[in-house]
Amino acid sequence: MSTSAIVAEKVWKDIQSTHSVSDEQLSILHFLFGKNLERATRIVDQRGVKRILGEPSGRSIFQVVGESKRKEEYLCFAEHYCACYSFFYDIVNRGEQLCCKHQLAARLASSLGTCIDVNMSDDDLALIFSQL
Ligand SMILES: [Zn+2]
Repeated sequence: MSTSAIVAEKVWKDIQSTHSVSDEQLSILHFLFGKNLERATRIVDQRGVKRILGEPSGRSIFQVVGESKRKEEYLCFAEHYCACYSFFYDIVNRGEQLCCKHQLAARLASSLGTCIDVNMSDDDLALIFSQL
């Protein structure tokens, strides 16, 4: 893991333990993620992060609303995958960023405890996974 990824992990854990984010934590995250953090906070403010939970396994995936007018939703795992174009272009191909704004929004909302939980059967969740 890169140093910035380790620093980010520590900040996420701290936010998760208090369910709140301080100005100092925000400025660290902003330093690490730049404009994507601003975009992610806007998504979180709009309650744009859903966490889909499979029952009974407890497996989960995030569904995060995009910022374009079409309001498309992207399936993502906060740590390692997003279905959006930026993820493949900026992160996988060019390695310029740690993660995309949807992953950031998912991480922020889950750390703050503000995602909308949606429960479904493991069969339905498997169908979603099969579309990735
Ligand atoms: Zn994304």
